[in-house]
Amino acid sequence: MPEPSPIRPLRLQVQGLTKDYEDLRALDELTFQVEAGEILGLVGPNGAGKTTALRTISGVLPVQEGRVLVCGHDVTHAPEAAKSCLGWVPDDPEPFDALTVEEHLEFTASLYGVKDWKERAEELLRRFELLEKRDALGGELSRGMRQKLAFSCTWLYRPSVVLLDEPLSGLDPRGIRSAKVAIRDLAAEGTAVILSSHLLELIEELAHRLLILDRGRLALHGTLDEARRSMSALAGSSLEEIFFAATRDPDSVPEKEAPEAGGEAAEG
Ligand code: ATP
Repeated sequence: MPEPSPIRPLRLQVQGLTKDYEDLRALDELTFQVEAGEILGLVGPNGAGKTTALRTISGVLPVQEGRVLVCGHDVTHAPEAAKSCLGWVPDDPEPFDALTVEEHLEFTASLYGVKDWKERAEELLRRFELLEKRDALGGELSRGMRQKLAFSCTWLYRPSVVLLDEPLSGLDPRGIRSAKVAIRDLAAEGTAVILSSHLLELIEELAHRLLILDRGRLALHGTLDEARRSMSALAGSSLEEIFFAATRDPDSVPEKEAPEAGGEAAEG
């Protein structure tokens, strides 16, 4: 995993976030933060609450309990200010059927007040291999192209915080390579990134810190080395080994088999 940079300003603060779907607690007092320029790898078994957390941070779901601050703006009390600094690429983006690829970029630029957007849009269309599809309608795009369009729109307005949910799942090998470079570059420019994925090699390659969620609870938060220390794991143990040690088998009895090494590995 890359080393995190020296302490930088906090861009995202999540405090005591709790979410229930009827009688199911999907998030249980989740607290963490992400600094400018940091890539936080969000991992956890199916149903751990990753998408619920991302949807709540992005404002798609209301905050039921707790607080989310994006660049200091509370998503409940100042949603417009919070959303203006936030970008969100869901795992299966749904562009507008009636707008072309280029019109999506134009629309995004007008929404976020991006001046001189054309040159940047051109660069992004090239970067994400969409030049040939610039006049295609949203409804005519393949899944991978929809993802590339969502990347292009998000990268266009340079948000301070970007949430990526399984960003590589629909991409071809060339697209995967471009997306990895683009994610690294985005963080290098100072954006705080949450990268949620089941691809542990991707997390190990790109993320500076980890957040392992298990059944709505924070199981680990910190660098891989901090996670190893917190789990009393051998030096050099892989993220996969840490993941299995920190999370429970879905068929296990929750209370009896909970690992003792859960909790914050370190302050983020
Ligand atoms: P995956 O890795 O499978 O995408 P996840 O970590 O993103 O999972 P969530 O989608 O956040 O998990 O789901 C967390 C829990 O909340 C799961 O038990 C899921 O069944 C439940 N859940 C999610 N959305 C709803 C909903 N709209 N209504 C009821 N329960 C829901």
